[in-house]
Amino acid sequence: MPTLTRPNHQVAVLGGGISGLVSAYRLLQQGVGVTLFEASDALGGLGGTFEYNRAVMEQFYHVMLNSDAPLLSLLEELDLAGTIRWQETGMGFQYEEAFYPFNTPLDLLRFGALTIPERLRTAVGAAYITKFVKNGAALDGITAAAWLTSIFGASVFQKLWRPLLTAKFGDLYDTVPAYWFWSRLTREKGGAKEVKGYVEGGYRAIADALASEIVRMGGKVRLKTPAQGLHETAGGVQVNAEGQWDPFSAVISTLPMPLLQKIAGGRIHGEVPQSDLVYQGVVNVVLILKQRLQPYYWNAIVKQGFPFQGLVETTHVVPLEQTNGRHLVYLMNYCNKDSETYSRSDSDWKFQAQKALTSLYPDFDQSVVDEVKVFRAPFVEPVWPVNYLADRPEAQISGSKVFLATTAQAYPRVNAWNTMVEIASETVVKVCAELVGRSAPASTMDELTLA
Ligand SMILES: Cc1cc2nc3c(=O)[nH]c(=O)nc-3n(C[C@H](O)[C@H](O)[C@H](O)COP(=O)(O)OP(=O)(O)OC[C@H]3O[C@@H](n4cnc5c(N)ncnc54)[C@H](O)[C@@H]3O)c2cc1C
Repeated sequence: MPTLTRPNHQVAVLGGGISGLVSAYRLLQQGVGVTLFEASDALGGLGGTFEYNRAVMEQFYHVMLNSDAPLLSLLEELDLAGTIRWQETGMGFQYEEAFYPFNTPLDLLRFGALTIPERLRTAVGAAYITKFVKNGAALDGITAAAWLTSIFGASVFQKLWRPLLTAKFGDLYDTVPAYWFWSRLTREKGGAKEVKGYVEGGYRAIADALASEIVRMGGKVRLKTPAQGLHETAGGVQVNAEGQWDPFSAVISTLPMPLLQKIAGGRIHGEVPQSDLVYQGVVNVVLILKQRLQPYYWNAIVKQGFPFQGLVETTHVVPLEQTNGRHLVYLMNYCNKDSETYSRSDSDWKFQAQKALTSLYPDFDQSVVDEVKVFRAPFVEPVWPVNYLADRPEAQISGSKVFLATTAQAYPRVNAWNTMVEIASETVVKVCAELVGRSAPASTMDELTLA
């Protein structure tokens, strides 16, 4: 297939998470030269890993869904699809002192945290949202809090939905649009059964496969090299790294918007969209256990004074051969990077995590804990404001050669690798259109494979 063979076109990609890796890979497939700048010493971004007892484990839990079409098709391309293992999973709900399975309509009818009329209303409301609400975009201007209250009533909202929204967005829980909530609910519970997928070697294997393709196609990967400056030139953009300015035809930034604004100079500094977007960060405590803890992949936790909002036991999906027989439990707290919660010491979090397990499972035997690790990420997901659709950043900063493939563009899609694969691929189409001087961007990659 003919490509844009333009040896003079060099594009800088800022960030080596999935968005940066896919951007670089797709650009190289189109015959465009790439230099990828990554601040840390490893690729994969939030899909980063650590080694324990000769096994590679994820810092943050990652699985895919069988509806993740762009990601699955990338895995086909990378010859990894054959290694995906699909696993039916379940969800539990710890509500104050009681634990409930939360998977079937019968589970909902037995959910003792709500009165019987509230359970019935919840069942009808959930069916209404997943089966009858088709136009999610109409919910962009309404907060999830107002919309859920109107469907489920104030008491169900207070008991069920408010704690779940707060768990994700903290004090800003009542600012997030209903469109985000609808999109999430219809993605996760769209099918009759909850099935999650794990590619052999985890998301690290995807990052590794992309990195070797990038290098094989001649791309340059610069680890431990944060982009520190960016400004426009007559023909393109210059990027500063390690004190040196290098010229590029264009840039794709995958950085959170406030970080991009920080490094952007001149006109671009003032043009960065959503530069004051607030992001949630996360603290993840990973417990490496000698035995299985509980029956579900994910448990939501609503418990007064409890320091975690959820528990994910990934080894319901991740095979034990991958972890050298160890079971992995992630306790998470989504919080703002500037909060007191985020900055608590590792030893405090480790102590809290072990205490938390005893509080959830009074018979929990601490001697099954092999190791406890703490990981933090300052920028996980924007706290989406209402009417975000109109202000959602475009793929290109207007009139410039600076392009975006970042989580700030994900809304209303879920913040996940699947979404970022799609966004990065779309952005590369726009970059290539700019590089061949087309005024109207092509809508697909195929349109760009010019003779
Ligand atoms: C706890 C948790 C659970 C999740 N679960 C799932 C899941 O189950 N499934 C799923 O698909 N997704 C999941 N996600 C979401 C997923 O991790 C993100 O959607 C995805 O990683 C975003 O990728 P990205 O490349 O846009 O950003 P990132 O992964 O954040 O990558 C950005 C990169 O830019 C680098 N960088 C920053 N500043 C600079 C600079 N100045 N110069 C150069 N590089 C820079 C960073 O070091 C980083 O490597 C989860 C996330 C978290 C935190």
